[in-house]
Amino acid sequence: MRLILLGPPGSGKGTQSVRLKEKLGISHISSGDLLRDAVKRETELGKQAKEFMEAGKLVQDELVLGMMRERLEADDCGSGFLLDGFPRTVAQARALGRMLEEDRIPLDHVMSLDVDDEEILSRIRGRREAEGRSDDNEETARERLAVYESETKPLLDFYREAGLLQEVDGIGTPDDIFDRIVACISATGGGEVDG
Ligand code: AMP
Repeated sequence: MRLILLGPPGSGKGTQSVRLKEKLGISHISSGDLLRDAVKRETELGKQAKEFMEAGKLVQDELVLGMMRERLEADDCGSGFLLDGFPRTVAQARALGRMLEEDRIPLDHVMSLDVDDEEILSRIRGRREAEGRSDDNEETARERLAVYESETKPLLDFYREAGLLQEVDGIGTPDDIFDRIVACISATGGGEVDG
């Protein structure tokens, strides 16, 4: 099973991805986690990505695409994957489409978590207190939301037109939201969700 989970920063993608990974037995690939790891290890990629991440801006497509191509070629992606935080631009989505086409691997589901801006800003404030993420200050959080609106939201239409988009109400407890996601997968032919 190959899934993409879309949604604004703070919409709960990370939380839901961890649960889905366990339920479906597939790899969870978070572009944000991969980039944070590169920054921590001070790799060439990390050095180039750091200032964009701290400002709440997107890291350049070519850097992210190189990183994701490498990650998707790893053995653990053979049984499927869940992408969280990637693609984030229409250019990235087209490039991902080409990568998957080369391998003749279709996407099964693209799900977007719908959460309004006020709820998101309040969740990001909570996360800042709990996790101390350096890109969770108020100004950067607003910038990340603005970038989502202008760069990532167009992906919803991109995948809607491809007939792949399923929109899930992202307000409620993590359990409620997870049940909605699983119901969506089951309703559209994801037969492997009863484990
Ligand atoms: P996230 O944890 O997904 O919110 O990502 C944290 C930060 O990493 C983002 O604000 C961006 O600076 C960068 N990032 C993560 N994924 C991508 C991507 N697909 N394209 C560009 N930048 C990304």
